Amino acid sequence: MNYSEERTKAGEYLRLALNYISKYNLPANPVNYTVWYEYVSGKNIKLKKAIDHSFENLKSLNNNNVEGLYQKYVADGDRIVISKLLTKISLMLKDITGHVSETEGDLSGHGKNLEDLADQIGEVSDYKDIKNIVDQMISETKALVHSGKRLQTRMKVSSEDLKQLHQELEKSQQEAQTDTLTKLINRRGLEKKLELERIRAKQNDSAFSIIMLDIDHFKRVNDTFGHLVGDSLLKSIALILKKHLRRNDVAARYGGEEFLILLPETNIEGAKAAGEKIRKALSTKEWKLKETGESMGRITVSMGIALYELNEPEKMLIKRADDALYLAKTNGRDLVITQEEL
Ligand code: GH3
Ligand code: MG
Ligand code: MG
Repeated sequence: MNYSEERTKAGEYLRLALNYISKYNLPANPVNYTVWYEYVSGKNIKLKKAIDHSFENLKSLNNNNVEGLYQKYVADGDRIVISKLLTKISLMLKDITGHVSETEGDLSGHGKNLEDLADQIGEVSDYKDIKNIVDQMISETKALVHSGKRLQTRMKVSSEDLKQLHQELEKSQQEAQTDTLTKLINRRGLEKKLELERIRAKQNDSAFSIIMLDIDHFKRVNDTFGHLVGDSLLKSIALILKKHLRRNDVAARYGGEEFLILLPETNIEGAKAAGEKIRKALSTKEWKLKETGESMGRITVSMGIALYELNEPEKMLIKRADDALYLAKTNGRDLVITQEEL
C-alpha cells in the first residue's frame, strides 16, 4: 500500500482509525492501526468491502476478526520485506542528507572566513599582516579540503551500503518468486514469465507452448512412504525436469504436485516431443528410497499441452492445458495429451 498522503490527511486517517480501535475496544497495536488506517483511507478496496460487509450484517469486530482481516487483506510476505527495506532506505537517506548539510555548513563557514580575509586585504600595511592573511588562507582551504574529503569518505560508505541494499532487494525479489522446496520458480514467478512470453509472442509473432504436468497417484507415495519421501520425490522430479529442458525453457512448481513448463518458440509437436522425453525419463527410472534402497515402484506423470493463441487471456491457455491433462488422467495416466486431441 502506498502511504504517501499529506501529513494533515494522514493525521485525520489516524484519528479516525483510533476512533474505531476504541469503539471496538481493540488493543492499540500495529495490526489494528494498519487495518483501520487502510479502512478509513479507503485505499484497500477488498479490506473495505469486507469490513463494510461486517457492518451491514451488524457483526461486531473483535481482535481475532481484525487479525484475520489483516492476514487476509493486508499482510503478505512481500510487504513485510519491503517495509524492512524501506526503513533501511530512509535511515540511509537521513544519513546522507545529514552528511551533505553538515558539509554545507562547513563550506559556508569557511567561505565566509575567506570573504572576511579578502576584505582585510585593503587594510594590509606590512609583511606581518600579509603573512597572517596567507596563514589563515592556508588553514581555511585546508579545512575546506578536509570537509570535502570527509564527505567523500562518507559517501563512499553510503554507496557501499546502497550496493548492499540493492543486492538485498534483488535477493528478496527472487526469493518471493522461488519455491522453497524444489527451488523452481513458483506460481508468482511463473505469472511474470508468462506475461513476458505473451508480450514477446506478440512482438515477434512467434508461438509458445505450455505443459501442465501432474504426478500420477502421488497421494499413494505419501501414504506408503510418508510425506518426507513425497517431498524428496518432488525435488528429484524438479531436477529431472531441469535436466531435460532447454536453456530457455522454464519449469515452475504450479501447485502441490503440479508443474508447469513454459516452452518459448515451441509449437505443439515440439512440446509433445519435450513432454515425451520427460515422461519416458521418469517412468523408466528406478526409484529407490535413499536410506534403505528399497524400490518405490514405478513413478509416472501425466501431461497436458496447449499452444498459446495470440492475445488470448492466460486463463484460457491454462484451461486448455488442464483439459488435456485431465484427458491424460482419464485415459490411463503416464500419457502426454495435446489440445489437438481434445
Ligand atoms: P492423480 O493421479 O489423479 O493426480 O492422483 P494424485 O494422488 O496424485 O492426486 P491427488 O490430487 O488426489 O493428490 C495429490 C496429493 O499431493 C495430495 C497431497 O497431499 C500431495 N501433496 C501436495 N503437495 C505436496 C507437498 O508439497 N509434499 C508432499 N509430500 N505431498 C504433497
Ligand atoms: Mg494434482
Ligand atoms: Mg497427481
